Formats: sequence, structure tokens, C-alpha cells
Amino acid sequence: MKIRELPNDLGFYLSGTLPGADRSSERDPDAPGTDMRSAVYVLVDGRRCGIIDTGMGVGVYRTINQALNRLRVFPEWVLLTHDHYDHVANAFWFKDEMGVAIYCHEGDLDLIEQPLKVFDDAYMLRRFGVTYRDSFRQMNRTEDDFERYIDRALRDRFYPVKVDATLEDGDILEVGSLEVEILHTPGHSPGSVSAYLPRFGAILAGDTPLWFGPGRANPLGNFRHWVDSMERLLLVDTEFIGWGHSAPTKGRSRCRRFLNNTLRRALEVEEAVVEEIGFHPQAVGELVELIYGDNVGALDEQREIAEDSVHALLCSLRDEGEVQDAPDDEGIIRWYSRIHA
Ligand SMILES: [Zn+2]
Repeated sequence: MKIRELPNDLGFYLSGTLPGADRSSERDPDAPGTDMRSAVYVLVDGRRCGIIDTGMGVGVYRTINQALNRLRVFPEWVLLTHDHYDHVANAFWFKDEMGVAIYCHEGDLDLIEQPLKVFDDAYMLRRFGVTYRDSFRQMNRTEDDFERYIDRALRDRFYPVKVDATLEDGDILEVGSLEVEILHTPGHSPGSVSAYLPRFGAILAGDTPLWFGPGRANPLGNFRHWVDSMERLLLVDTEFIGWGHSAPTKGRSRCRRFLNNTLRRALEVEEAVVEEIGFHPQAVGELVELIYGDNVGALDEQREIAEDSVHALLCSLRDEGEVQDAPDDEGIIRWYSRIHA
């Protein structure tokens, strides 16, 4: 893990991995554990700072704190770009140890405060009209897969924190004289936000610019909302894009190219999906194989994210009346084109 300066003395960010960092879900500083994988941004003005996403793991929390102590700055708030555990896991340390105010968008409030609500069928039906278990079935994942997912969530992904206030699109967060505008950029999650610093042309976009598309299965991920959010980010005058899972992009034309390419690749995937199911009804896993092929990598997690993205895409197409899903003779859920039917 490295601490790097932000341009224009805006502060610093941490990214990369920190092997051997502790797993904060155990709330035990001496427990052995995993690492963090998502970036943390710290915006500094004078003696004050605002923190965007918190990373995961006690080691990461300590590293942030050492940097704050060295600079003798104190955090006034933490903005969580979305509910994912690798971004929110350390939020409770800031809250419990330092009394820092925690902010997020209303759309992700429930899952930040109570992450396991995603497995509460009554809640999911009330809010989204579909359960997460249904999404698993639509991807032909088994009941065992679902149980494993819950186990993993309980073990690795359970980092509840009480949020102090929710923010809406257009709200401004201040730290000293710095102004941070909240852009609601849903798609990766219902309440995903990007932090925009107009004076510096900088956007800290959380996981919105993920190249797979939304990166999450419907109903939490929404492909069409994600496309709208990417188009919106393209309208913003920017020369620095920081996001959750790789080095920031710098320079006006590079930023445009990065957003354009990410969006274009996702729209190409959409085209390919529509074409494939026009020939033949396809299961989600088959589509991932056909479309991403070797690009998806051998990692289970990458394949899972690709499947989730394709599922969210198919659900958007289903909402628009272009496709439908149904089990075949062997009970495998396949997606059919309604246009060619
Ligand atoms: Zn995420």
C-alpha cells in the first residue's frame, strides 16, 4: 500500500494492497486477516480533512491515522461512495474512536447500516420487488451457492456503521474552504455517489467506472442507471478521476478516454448479448463465456462480477420488454429474445 499526494495539494490517497492487515470485522487489532483493496481519499484543508471511503482492515485504518497524525489534521467527515464492504469496512473505527460524522446517499443507507438486509426477503421484496435469492436462481446459482454467499458475507463482509446523515444529488460537503459536490451516480448500487471538486476538476467516483458495467446483480446493480451515470460523468469537466480499484486517471483527454472506453465496452457487451440471444436462448454463465471469454480471467471473483453485470444488463432489457427469462426442459434459466420470438 502506498500513500500518494493528490494534485494541487488537495491531500493524499492510499491505494494498493496491504498484506497482513487485520480483518476489521473481528474488531480485534491483533487478529490475523486479509488486506484492503479499495482506495481511500483524504482531502485536506488546513487542520481539517474529509475522507472518501475507508478501505478495509485495521492496518489500513492505522495507516490513514498515522498520516493524519503526521500532518496534524483531524477528520470532520467520512463520505461513503456506496455500501460495499471493501469501501465501508473501516467507517465504524472513525465513528467509534474519533466521533467522525458518516455520510452516504439514502439509496445505500439500509445496506450500510444493516448489510445483511440483502438476505431479508421481505425487505428486498418491499423495496425492489425481487429477492437476492431470485437473482441467484436467474443466474443458475444453486441454493448451496447462496448459503456460501451468506456465510462469506457473515465472515468477511459484515461491517455495519450508523450513518449520521444522508446526502442528495447537488448537496455540498465542506472541509475548510474546500467544496465537495455530491453527484448521485447510481448503477453499481442504488445509492452510489461521486464526489466532485469543481475548483480542481476532480471526481472521486467510487466504483462507478467499473469496466464490467454495474458489477452487481439486479436489483442492487442496474445497467441502465449505470449507463446514465457514466454519461453524466462524461459531461463533467474533469482532469482527475479517482476511483475504487486502480490508479487515478489524470489529464483532461485521458479522463474522457477512460470514461468513454469504459462506457463503450459495456455498450458493446450489451450489443453482443442482444445478438447472442437473438440466435439462441442463453444462460447467464454461457453469455459470460461467449462474450468475455478469456478476458474475464480465471479468478472466481472476476467471473462472478461479470455474471452479475450480465444479469443486471439482462434485467434492464427485460424491464424494457426486449428479453424474457424462463427455465428450459432441464430447469436451466435461459434468456430469450422477444424481438426474434
Ligand atoms: Zn463496490
